[in-house]
Amino acid sequence: MSSSTITIVKNANKKPKPQSKEIAFGRTFTDHMFVMDYEADKGWHEPRIVPYEPLTLDPAAMIFHYGQTVFEGMKAYRTEDDRILLFRPDQNIKRLNKSSERLSIPQVDEERVMEYLIELIRLEQDWVPDFEGTSLYIRPFIIGTEPSLAVAPSKTYKLMVILSPVGPYFKGGLKPVQINVEKQFTRAVKGGTGMAKTAGNYSSAYQAQAKAYEEGLADVLWLDGIEKRYIEEVGSMNIFFKIDGEVVTPALSGSILKGITRMSIIELLHKWDIPVTERKVSIDEIYQAYQDGKLEEVFGTGTAAVISPVGQLNWSGEKMDINNGEIGELSQKLYDTITGIQRGSVEDTENWTIEV
Ligand SMILES: *Cc1c(COP(=O)(O)O)cnc(C)c1O
Repeated sequence: MSSSTITIVKNANKKPKPQSKEIAFGRTFTDHMFVMDYEADKGWHEPRIVPYEPLTLDPAAMIFHYGQTVFEGMKAYRTEDDRILLFRPDQNIKRLNKSSERLSIPQVDEERVMEYLIELIRLEQDWVPDFEGTSLYIRPFIIGTEPSLAVAPSKTYKLMVILSPVGPYFKGGLKPVQINVEKQFTRAVKGGTGMAKTAGNYSSAYQAQAKAYEEGLADVLWLDGIEKRYIEEVGSMNIFFKIDGEVVTPALSGSILKGITRMSIIELLHKWDIPVTERKVSIDEIYQAYQDGKLEEVFGTGTAAVISPVGQLNWSGEKMDINNGEIGELSQKLYDTITGIQRGSVEDTENWTIEV
């Protein structure tokens, strides 16, 4: 039968590690990667850590044709006293399975995958950079590998984990960005794949992104696909609004990705006794709040940036300036708390971190 014991093949040719915090996102990869295969009769089997290298796949491999794939994104952080922490990694593995379910990909054993992940990061621990604001980005993903053009789920899969040292998201501190409210394109619809981290959601967003860039704006605010009225996400982040002292974020409707940063922020706000509601939020409501002078803060949330303050929303030429284009007090406090927990400088009262 299949074995769950991991085999490790060490890389004899170690690459040089980044020497400063100027590390471009997702272009440098570590010396090793994790691989595990799936076949119907064996289940997930042959977990292994091997030298990072290109893959050989049949050109008919199903991933290339019908996009049967899911991914995750998380980070390992180095603390001041040289420990390595992961932030709620169990949630990422759980979400990987959720995404897989939507894409008809077989489930993984969450506890085992956690063990494999920790084993890989332990082996690559020298790759977790120690410059301010840097981290080791972790990218688990699954692809359908069966060579077949049949429109049906693949019978074989590969789960892989690759690691990439990354620099700070914001170069000179948190900087509010200008966002285009997208009226033509849709990211996801209820019943579709919006709640899954799957490739097609991202490549289908590029056209809207390009349009925003052309107008000198940083990203896109997505509205619901049916009425083009209710707010869903910002770029590939969840979104929060602070209106007249209350924090609101779009309720998970099926087309919104359930962010772990989003979840953590809601939990922190509850703990701090700051009113927070998950509900439908329309762009008209936001515009009204803006006109009434009650739109206090807007920010995106995700693993990459943690908090990305929005300084201006552009809605059909109506420019809503938020907090004079400056970062809000609550946005800053949430950012400092979460990054502090991730880097071990703020007490982790919620037991969110795991030491590698
Ligand atoms: C990954 C992702 C997020 C943020 O999720 P986190 O778990 O907080 O990193 C939000 N929206 C989309 C579309 C995403 O892909």
